Amino acid sequence: MKYAAMNINFDSLGEAYGFPEGYRDPSFFEVADRLMEIADRYDFKYSIYIIAKDLEKPENRAAVRRWAEAGHEIGSHTYHHPPHLSAMSRAELSEELGRAHGLIAETVGEAPKGFIAPVWSTSAAVLETLIGLGYEYDTSSFPSWLMYPSLAKITANHIGDARMWRFMRRKDYGYFLAGSRTPYLTNGSLFGRDFDPEAPHLTVLPLPTTSTRMACWHTLAFIMDWRRYERILKSCLQSLDAFYYLLHPADMVDASDLEPGRTLHLERLDVPLATKVAYLERAIEHILSDGRKIVTMRELAARAHEALI
Ligand SMILES: [Zn+2]
Repeated sequence: MKYAAMNINFDSLGEAYGFPEGYRDPSFFEVADRLMEIADRYDFKYSIYIIAKDLEKPENRAAVRRWAEAGHEIGSHTYHHPPHLSAMSRAELSEELGRAHGLIAETVGEAPKGFIAPVWSTSAAVLETLIGLGYEYDTSSFPSWLMYPSLAKITANHIGDARMWRFMRRKDYGYFLAGSRTPYLTNGSLFGRDFDPEAPHLTVLPLPTTSTRMACWHTLAFIMDWRRYERILKSCLQSLDAFYYLLHPADMVDASDLEPGRTLHLERLDVPLATKVAYLERAIEHILSDGRKIVTMRELAARAHEALI
């Protein structure tokens, strides 16, 4: 049996708007409901990585608790969503990731076991911090050249915004071409060097890429020609055992969810909702027709760990 996971990197509209006071975030309601309807229809559970600051709002906390109760896995996507984890000190990481960890555990009644870094900005210190907090897996690795044009695009989106400067402080520019394309175990080394199975460790599951290191996640379905994107998706499904499919709330945001008068620099906001639903259905059908059973990322990571240890 082959497996796959369906992950949601939960970049909320609230985060994109700068966490405004009194804002009711449709990401946790209308948008999430559309994603949940698809999971129910195809009978699978997501792995959802939450920005813990969103949990300061009781209504968001209640929504996340309901998802956990329905069997979806809840992981961490940091507390404040800083775009430069790779430039942060161990003390800063311990505060940022530890705070998220505690709040997510308190919300769902179980400590998160999986993590994804904002904009895939990672370091040995990030891995060591996660291992110290008892994480079983990390999914912050982006082993593709596509990061360079993506970073240029994200930087352009944030020109004049304070986040751009923090974003440019990241220190992992060399990692994208050298990182492993397949899962590996690590005691905290970014490349899993000198691995000791007896020491505390976690499993790193890199973002799926083709043999030429073209990355695959759902955002690209809106940026590229669908046929070309479909070839990339099929190529990853054929060549990778530990396949996961990465989604974001923006993949299911409708124009009616947006706040008039606030600007957002996100791809795919002008795509009609019916097209968005159809794209996700097509991607899921490819994954299922590859003979894969959709499990949580925690289970996928445990299987990868077992195969590697
Ligand atoms: Zn994010």
